[in-house]
Amino acid sequence: RGGMERHSYDVVVIGAGGAGLRAAIAAHEAGARTAVVCKSLLGKAHTVMAEGGAAAALGNRWPEDTWQVHFRDTMRGGKMLNNWRMAQLHAQEAPERVLELEDWGALFDRTEDGLISQRDFGGHRYARLAHVGDRTGLELIRTLQQRTVQLGIDVFMECTVTEVLKQEGQVAGAFGYWRETGRFITFEAPSVILATGGIGKSYKVTSNSWEYTGDGHALALRAGASLINMEFVQFHPTGMVWPPSVKGLLVTESVRGDGGILRNSQGARFMFDYIPDFFRAETADTEEEADAWYEDKKNNRRPPELLPRDEVARAINSEIKAGRGSPHGGIYLDIASRRDADYIRKRLPSMYHQFKELADVDITAEPMEIGPTCHYVMGGVEVDPDSQQSAVTGLYAAGEVSGGMHGSNRLGGNSLSDLLVFGKRAGEAAAAHATSLDQRGQRPVVDEADVKAAQADALAPFEVSAGPGGGGENPYTIQHDLQQSMNDLVGIIRTATELEASLAELERLKQRADRMVVEGHRQYNPGWHLALDLRNMLLVSECIAKAALARQESRGGHTRDDFPGPDPEWGAKNLVLSLDEAGTGVDIAEKPLPTMPDDLQQLFEDK
Ligand code: FAD
Repeated sequence: RGGMERHSYDVVVIGAGGAGLRAAIAAHEAGARTAVVCKSLLGKAHTVMAEGGAAAALGNRWPEDTWQVHFRDTMRGGKMLNNWRMAQLHAQEAPERVLELEDWGALFDRTEDGLISQRDFGGHRYARLAHVGDRTGLELIRTLQQRTVQLGIDVFMECTVTEVLKQEGQVAGAFGYWRETGRFITFEAPSVILATGGIGKSYKVTSNSWEYTGDGHALALRAGASLINMEFVQFHPTGMVWPPSVKGLLVTESVRGDGGILRNSQGARFMFDYIPDFFRAETADTEEEADAWYEDKKNNRRPPELLPRDEVARAINSEIKAGRGSPHGGIYLDIASRRDADYIRKRLPSMYHQFKELADVDITAEPMEIGPTCHYVMGGVEVDPDSQQSAVTGLYAAGEVSGGMHGSNRLGGNSLSDLLVFGKRAGEAAAAHATSLDQRGQRPVVDEADVKAAQADALAPFEVSAGPGGGGENPYTIQHDLQQSMNDLVGIIRTATELEASLAELERLKQRADRMVVEGHRQYNPGWHLALDLRNMLLVSECIAKAALARQESRGGHTRDDFPGPDPEWGAKNLVLSLDEAGTGVDIAEKPLPTMPDDLQQLFEDK
């Protein structure tokens, strides 16, 4: 049988979405022996689902667009809670990263002049999203995947990592299992990059797929790193509401970017009633001006349908609560009466098919019914903005699993560019770290006792015996109860009472999880996989609920009914979460935001 499978690399990247693949390419190009590990098939990562595009101030449609304007939009969209340095690097480097993708073979849609086409999205002052119809993520992944394979980077697919291994406080490797055989695998590596994506599967109504169980967030916590911004979960304003089997499935913001508007059951275009003071100066207050903006951005202000996502999601929520919703509990999104059928089919081919096939709705002829859906987590691993290294030496995080870049609310399109910019940076820094350790002859070694402990932890769900006094909890039931409770108690509008109730429920769920019983053996056993994922989901959900209870204000993706407005004091600090001493829960602390330098500060004072 020959013992446990073991591999040695300089850099191990966990995750094969945009961030992971871009990181692996960068590490490989820096000379590091690199591997990518992913729990689904290569090409299946979440990034493939991205629809609208990647935001980058290329200036192809509007030469006035610069990194400074993009930076300003991003910070304002995040209600100034973003890590300014990350937002700056992102805005500065996104154009180069997009153009580089094109060099590697990505085929973007074009302008009439043959440049990369850029489309409008909420919160972006100019049309800024480089796109491929409404299937941008697919092209991004296809390009990065092809390059990864061409470069000969090793890929371990359908392989789940359950532990980061350390020696004396530094990363030494990672431990995981093959999903198909259930056999264990150890990676020795001085640099590990977390690129595991988000947490959306902790919520019942979500646009996210089964993979989004917050593994990287939990791996980071357990390794001794910290998370920030976890109270900020983005509820995308437009998910499908009908039929029930597809509730939560995303309806891209491009529908509004391309001219779609929101109406309530009385036919009113209600977003004009929800323009917050913060955005009043740059938002149209009449339908005429809003409609004219699509053609003339210099002399008109943005339509209110294109306010940042948090604003639009809250407005929809209020309309539904006020009894002005659609028959299936949503609101209407109408592009049919605004654009001709050919245009809609060309610009939004996936949406056209999605509604036709799943809901029997022809979006070129009738409005869609939509409602908010859990979509993205702004919170993630606290990292150094330049290198993406966490508080643990040798542990990096890039993409959705990292925190700071988007502050309290992410602008659409800013994730795909984030993956590219910070994936590259993380890959380079991780490779440099491995090289510098080797130069000093100080590569950490994996401790066999830690491997044994990781193995025992992974097998623990098989050890619980069913029946009286023993276990009996089913992982699927616990997952269902967790999703329901996060949806009901830690959702789009929050109160102290509900958040306290959610923390009490999370404690009960954790106890139930200790009594989970997994039947069968280790060969492809989804119940076992879920049992392991659930530990991560519970830990991460606790981070969200604790931070949401602590932040006594409303800002971006965090709305407190009992503290309805933003509070300048809260606007100057982050909440930082780390594993508690017992290793079973999380501690929370406040930390001041880093100070923005004067030249960048100036960008907000000019306007
Ligand atoms: P992912 O692409 O999710 O990749 C995560 C990887 O980690 C996967 O390979 C997974 O298998 C692996 N993994 C996870 N856990 C483990 C583990 N324990 N062990 C091993 N591997 C693991 N953003 C935009 O900017 N523009 C858009 O138009 C846009 N549209 C979107 C549409 C939809 C429907 C959704 C859901 C999101 C959209 N987003 C968009 C957001 C964006 O797609 C994601 O934030 C982004 O793709 C995340 O990329 P990532 O590389 O961080 O992670």
